[in-house]
Amino acid sequence: MAVASYRPGADDAAPLTFKLGIVRMTARLASLPARLAIAAATVLAATPALAHPGHEAASGLSHGFLHPLTGLDHVLAMVAVGLIAARIGGRALYLVPLAFLGMMVVGGILGAGGIALPFVEIGIALSVVVLGASLALRPALPVVAAMVLVGAFAVFHGHAHGAEMPETASGLSYGLGFIGATALLHAAGLGLGLSAGRLMQSLAALRVAGAGLAVAGLGLLAGAL
Ligand SMILES: [Zn+2]
Repeated sequence: MAVASYRPGADDAAPLTFKLGIVRMTARLASLPARLAIAAATVLAATPALAHPGHEAASGLSHGFLHPLTGLDHVLAMVAVGLIAARIGGRALYLVPLAFLGMMVVGGILGAGGIALPFVEIGIALSVVVLGASLALRPALPVVAAMVLVGAFAVFHGHAHGAEMPETASGLSYGLGFIGATALLHAAGLGLGLSAGRLMQSLAALRVAGAGLAVAGLGLLAGAL
């Protein structure tokens, strides 16, 4: 067995190496197209297994809480919402995430009520592409436009799960867990976006993050088609 490579000193250096890696990465944005191509290839190869691990009937608070955190498509879209909010700033910091959360609940209710919505999985994957691309390409959107954009896609994220929920108290707690995890992912995106803006004194880091998200979303889309 090849487990002999562990050395006590190696782990101690890891956090610093990681930080240096991030500094180097952000300093070498010039070769972005090549990096994106590599990222795209990696994502395309990896996503069929990563997107939506288990959309079977689910219930319970912890199950609901874990689902968004374990589905790459949910994680990326929800972090993107936080990044978009951070990029706009001001009222958008809470209004944009609230628009996503609110419309996700609407989607969940529609799904639980048996109201069909076409192309749900494709809509979820597309949300990562479009939200990432908007972050990469557009200067900060007007607050209302960003709310409409994230809200429209949030319906798909909610619907996929509302449709599977039993109409019981455990379905409700599944929903509450799902909402809690989504809010945490928004907060993570907000924190990342705000600290990137502060550290870089520019929007370059956010734009690169958006481009990376869009590419990852294309991989998810390929998996959903
Ligand atoms: Zn899901």
